[in-house]
Amino acid sequence: MTSFKHENVEDLYELLEKLGSGHFGEVKKCREKSTGTYYAGKFIKTRKCKGSRLGLDRDQIEREVFILQQLEHPNIMRLHDVFTSKAEMVLILELIRGGELFDFIAEKEALSEEDAIEFLEQILKGVAYIHSRSIAHFDLKPENIMLLEKDVPHPKIKIIDFGLAQKIEDGAVFKSMCGTPQYIAPEVINYEPLGPPTDMWSIGVITYILLSGLSPFQGETDQETLTNVVSGNYEFDDRIFKQTSELAKDFIRQLLLKDPRDRMTVVECLIHPWIKPLNRNQAVNRSRSSINMKNFKKFNARRKWKLSYNMVSACNRLCRMKLLCNPMKDEEELRQCESDQEDEKTKPVTLLRRRLSNSS
Ligand code: ATP
Repeated sequence: MTSFKHENVEDLYELLEKLGSGHFGEVKKCREKSTGTYYAGKFIKTRKCKGSRLGLDRDQIEREVFILQQLEHPNIMRLHDVFTSKAEMVLILELIRGGELFDFIAEKEALSEEDAIEFLEQILKGVAYIHSRSIAHFDLKPENIMLLEKDVPHPKIKIIDFGLAQKIEDGAVFKSMCGTPQYIAPEVINYEPLGPPTDMWSIGVITYILLSGLSPFQGETDQETLTNVVSGNYEFDDRIFKQTSELAKDFIRQLLLKDPRDRMTVVECLIHPWIKPLNRNQAVNRSRSSINMKNFKKFNARRKWKLSYNMVSACNRLCRMKLLCNPMKDEEELRQCESDQEDEKTKPVTLLRRRLSNSS
């Protein structure tokens, strides 16, 4: 089991280019000096004191670490090492080089349902693994579904970001209002008990988008999206779903059910005839049906635009805090002091993600 190291991460790892960023810090490529192996270092700012609005509580990060430590599955990102210091914690993670699944698909000219299922089945296997360990992810969305490598015949799915994941102990009730509006289940908004079925709703939404390029509950605003989710009403527009098989729609229908007890479990999903055809007819249907690529590309372009818009707003806020703008500070010093700053006037970057906010 990985233990927390107190030395400076840069003594053991060479920090390289930035790979991505979240609301609580950055992810950078890094190279372990002793072995030459490449990893992804997730740098997470820790909250300086209880009332502080910047950074994450240490125990929240420790929970992510505790969960990742228990997971070893080909479709789940692995944790290699953890560092802790006064202002930040650094998770050294398996390096995932293939980018997001949705970006990979959006580059294709066409994709049959059969091809899409090859990816979906891997997502389901990863989720089945965590659910079998009584862990729910609670943040399944396209940004958290990546490919280990993309220039290979059968790219391997990796589920990332266990920042909201929870171990659901037997008989315990867990409630939370976290997640991303487009993908969260009605029980999250209604502040009702959550569990593995909450992930299954998100898988229903992801599948719907994958096939159609439409988001089933998306409204003009987050408030409207949340209202649509709670109503549970959505439809399969014939013009958009004309290339979609009936089995695919059945698969989605059995996930986007308001009552979590009515939804398919992940194990049931894996044996649904759309995923595991029972006869030749069903198998042929999957290869003849295809995803609505024109719409999907549009959805993905909009999604990327919104993500970068949110990121630019976040950077602007940091700049207003005069942190990114101080050329005198070296990187380590900068990382240390970012966590110590408070911005009273603007809504902090740090709170955006774990709340139901402008991320849909
Ligand atoms: P968010 O606020 O979006 O939930 P977060 O702070 O929890 O983000 P992650 O989602 O874990 O951080 O990572 C942010 C981004 O960094 C990812 O979207 C991805 O692009 C990149 N990333 C994360 N982990 C890895 C990895 N293991 N290998 C390569 N890139 C990664």
